[in-house]
Amino acid sequence: MITSATALPNDHTLTADLAVIGAGPAGIVVSLEAARYGFDVLLVESGRQKFDPDIQNLAEAAEMDPALHSPMRLTTRRQLGGTSVIWGGKCVPYDEVDFDYRPFMSDAQWPVSYDQIVPYFQRACDWLACGRATFDTTRMPHLPPSLVPGFADGDTMASTLERWSLPTNFGREYRDVLRRSARVRAVTGLTCTQVVCREGYPEVDHLSCRNLGGKHIQVRARAYVLACGGLDTTRLLLASPGPGERPLGDHSGHLGSWYMGHLEGVIANVRFNTAPRSTIFGYERDIDGTYIRRRLTVSRKAQLAEHLPNVAAWLANPELADPRHRNGVLSFAYLMLRSPLGRLMAPDAQRLSLSGEEVPGSPYGGAERGSVRQHMLNVSRDVWPVARFAVGFGSKRFLPQRRRAAGFFVYSKENSYPLQYHGEQAPKRDSQVTLTGERDALGMPKLKIDLKFSAQDVDGIIRTHHLWDTCLRESGLGHLEYLSADPESTVWSRAGGGFHQLGTTRMAARPEDGVVDSDLAVHGVSNLFVASSSTFVTSGQANPTFMIVAFAARLADRLKKVLPDLKPTSCD
Ligand SMILES: Cc1cc2nc3c(=O)[nH]c(=O)nc-3n(C[C@H](O)[C@H](O)[C@H](O)COP(=O)(O)OP(=O)(O)OC[C@H]3O[C@@H](n4cnc5c(N)ncnc54)[C@H](O)[C@@H]3O)c2cc1C
Repeated sequence: MITSATALPNDHTLTADLAVIGAGPAGIVVSLEAARYGFDVLLVESGRQKFDPDIQNLAEAAEMDPALHSPMRLTTRRQLGGTSVIWGGKCVPYDEVDFDYRPFMSDAQWPVSYDQIVPYFQRACDWLACGRATFDTTRMPHLPPSLVPGFADGDTMASTLERWSLPTNFGREYRDVLRRSARVRAVTGLTCTQVVCREGYPEVDHLSCRNLGGKHIQVRARAYVLACGGLDTTRLLLASPGPGERPLGDHSGHLGSWYMGHLEGVIANVRFNTAPRSTIFGYERDIDGTYIRRRLTVSRKAQLAEHLPNVAAWLANPELADPRHRNGVLSFAYLMLRSPLGRLMAPDAQRLSLSGEEVPGSPYGGAERGSVRQHMLNVSRDVWPVARFAVGFGSKRFLPQRRRAAGFFVYSKENSYPLQYHGEQAPKRDSQVTLTGERDALGMPKLKIDLKFSAQDVDGIIRTHHLWDTCLRESGLGHLEYLSADPESTVWSRAGGGFHQLGTTRMAARPEDGVVDSDLAVHGVSNLFVASSSTFVTSGQANPTFMIVAFAARLADRLKKVLPDLKPTSCD
């Protein structure tokens, strides 16, 4: 059932076996899985079923460096479905190496092994509708064997791939399931403003929730899961007094620290010496129609030997905004994105960055934009390819009701493609979020965001490119061509974040090393759990949502075991 908070009386108390806060991918998966195990679930969502700008404003931070972090209105969505309402849909798992102990990665140590999370990959694929849990082209005989003829995996690998969901908007996909569910009650337009502990006990007593109409609602349950997204989960804990003097979950001073995202951008083109037509530069389809894409990565052995972070890269388009590409299709796409129709075509962040605006944390932006006339000239030179693209891509992207083309890539007859990297940011304690004295419309303190990249992050991107270049040259298959004499400055200038929010409630085996334990329970608080990328210890090369969903499914299994032993806090 889905209810709006406006339909509830003021000072009302809602009860359930399990209360889940936040109806993004994490919250919806935990709720529906727990319901399947027979528990009554209350799912509290700040947003409504439709977008409400006043509610979205509640997410805005008070302070941050606008050159380093995008505003929350571009990076999160307060609405049923959470940020999946506006996400891209790329699904990538973490690799084995991400769970290895790598002393060079700030001594970070996962309390969960790769083997413990792999069994949840197929369940994550099912929730995300991204096909089968196969991320390796060598296990997919229907595909051509290699990125370019003759390429064989060694230190540089080209056999791993990313999958694309519908893209799955969890609000739209699971709204009817939530509506019909006899076990889940979703309440929209209700924001949890504080987690309140039982006086003198290390356990949550209730949640204090409010709406913009001035109502106050209490929530009581046996157990509580915070699934408010990476930064808002951390903010809620910071705003909630713990059993001691410190905020809830801040028993060892880690809450809010270790904030990570990814580094993304382009510093080089890859030029292949092979037949241009045989390069696999775009999307492929799996046997069930799922869009997939190959990437370049570095083997686990080479990463560990060279002390490299985990970085992936794929063949990309030249910057749309810069007409010097002289490509009519790219100019057409650019003009469409800048037109009034652009808002219907891509989420704001993507639309703005693709059309040349600086959006920190996005791979594009800041390109030489050129005039509309120059772009029109490109289009006029390529009328037929543009018409074919408009019909072909348009019908794959905008007509299908479910699985839509994730994007498009243009062929290069020079066999040269921008290599777009997506790389790991090393955890650093002083990269952090804290509370300020400024409050939102519900009285919650707003965040100060201080995301910090390091020379190690930049150096990792550069050295990974050198490794790829060396491997391509040694095999005679190609080489990299750097776009500037100072690629390091380019990596620094593109470093930014907000779209992937990791690390600020880090998982650790011991309470002194983090906020939650390996089962995502807040250390020392028996009935409080976190389902979010904020629990991730390292950031890897992967966008986070696939792993968020895998960990959410694992948490539901954990709750199945522990919930029956937890007593409802309403029984006092
Ligand atoms: C433009 C864009 C593109 C992206 N593309 C990709 C991609 O291709 N692949 C990928 O893996 N990731 C991508 N991401 C990131 C992805 O969207 C997030 O990782 C994912 O949505 C996180 O899921 P979540 O459930 O943890 O949090 P969210 O989806 O953010 O959901 C959190 C929910 O909690 C609610 N909430 C917050 N605070 C409270 C409160 N106090 N009380 C009640 N409710 C609250 C919010 O309203 C929201 O509905 C993208 C993000 C953006 C912005």
